[in-house]
Amino acid sequence: MDDIGQVIMKLSALGYRLWLEGDRVGYEHVGPGEPDAVKVLPLLKAIRERKADAVYFLRCYCSCCGGVVFGTFSDGKSRCLVCYRKNLDSLNIDRS
Ligand SMILES: [Zn+2]
Repeated sequence: MDDIGQVIMKLSALGYRLWLEGDRVGYEHVGPGEPDAVKVLPLLKAIRERKADAVYFLRCYCSCCGGVVFGTFSDGKSRCLVCYRKNLDSLNIDRS
């Protein structure tokens, strides 16, 4: 059995995007091409069977940019630094 991180990376390589919805794991196929069910189904099954591991992994995996570089902020939450910076930039534009 693969490490859950490898399962998620494989799904991502097969054109899937995964994210957290509260404590649920959401996923969709974004391409390119059609999903290969023979490869994909066992991976999705592994996600369902090891949901807690998948949730834990996805907490430190950015579904927006695929980054894994996170920082912990003053509110105790960790955020993707790439996306945080983008959000910060847009906030600065709003303020000006
Ligand atoms: Zn990100």
